[in-house]
Amino acid sequence: MSSEFNLIERYFVGRQTQRTDVLLAAGDDCALVEAPTGFSIAISTDTLVSGTHFLPDANPAWVAHKALASNISDLAAMGATPAWVSFALTMPFVDEAWLAPFCDSFFELADQYGIQLIGGDTTKGPLSLTLTVQGFVPKGQALKREGAKVGDEIYVTGSIGDSKAGLDVILDQAQAGRPWAQILEQRHYLSSPRVCVGEALRGIASAAIDISDGVISDLGHILKRSQVGAKVEVEQLPISSQLVEFVAGRDRALQYALTSGEEYELCFTVPEGKREALSHALKDIDCSVTCIGQINSTGNLTLTRNGQTITWQLNGYDHFKSN
Ligand code: ADP
Ligand code: MG
Repeated sequence: MSSEFNLIERYFVGRQTQRTDVLLAAGDDCALVEAPTGFSIAISTDTLVSGTHFLPDANPAWVAHKALASNISDLAAMGATPAWVSFALTMPFVDEAWLAPFCDSFFELADQYGIQLIGGDTTKGPLSLTLTVQGFVPKGQALKREGAKVGDEIYVTGSIGDSKAGLDVILDQAQAGRPWAQILEQRHYLSSPRVCVGEALRGIASAAIDISDGVISDLGHILKRSQVGAKVEVEQLPISSQLVEFVAGRDRALQYALTSGEEYELCFTVPEGKREALSHALKDIDCSVTCIGQINSTGNLTLTRNGQTITWQLNGYDHFKSN
């Protein structure tokens, strides 16, 4: 890209206050950073591809939020505190009308979470965004997918299902006339990664994951890694009144809640002896958590409704699955 350096200078360099642990940010061959002693560094990379994760004509400010929020959510799910991000941008041409709102939104969210852009790469090609985020977690306290034990309770943050309804609106404009369509579309793009909750869960949660592929699918990862089963009571799933209105019924809203991906809420397990510690740890955090079920030894995930086992045909999202 001929004006690569101009573009980097113009849009990506010097937009944030320098963190004290960043010795050298974008501009040299590498960034130089310093990790605090006693902490592990949590690192995660995610890519958003135009046409797959967002439509080419999607609002660039919302795309920036989604890209960064989904990456920060991975840090939250490990109980890590965000610190640094690098950004590999591929775009077909220097589209300033797209870049300006994209960068404004990117840095607004980055500042909100105290995460500094320390470098990246800029290349020409089909629009795609790859972010690598890094954060700190005290040694031995990261929240992993393994560790859930029989008897632990299963919780989710916030409400779930709205993102899938928002995606319905994005993919089929005929849905745009339904109640709350615009609000739900924004919920799809503008999630709030649950960093404060993740940090508060250190030493309390036995396992955690963020909901990117649907609670059934993501809880499934915890069960598999922890070699346990679970029972989930669907009537306990936290759903919004907007979702119930949008899909015109509670049954359908609950089905959305089970399979909705890209929610970026946390799903985590807590041993019985840590329940008081949980409510104490969350008392000053502005985020609801709801118990949706319990870990058991069956090796399977069972759904119940008012205590009765139900069989709903449900699938989370898998990029490589052909269906
Ligand atoms: P190199 O050729 O050594 O890889 P680049 O020309 O790719 O260097 O990048 C020059 C500097 O600009 C580097 O410090 C890099 O981290 C930074 N940079 C490039 N693209 C981006 C971007 N999209 N966001 C932030 N920093 C970037
Ligand atoms: Mg490079």
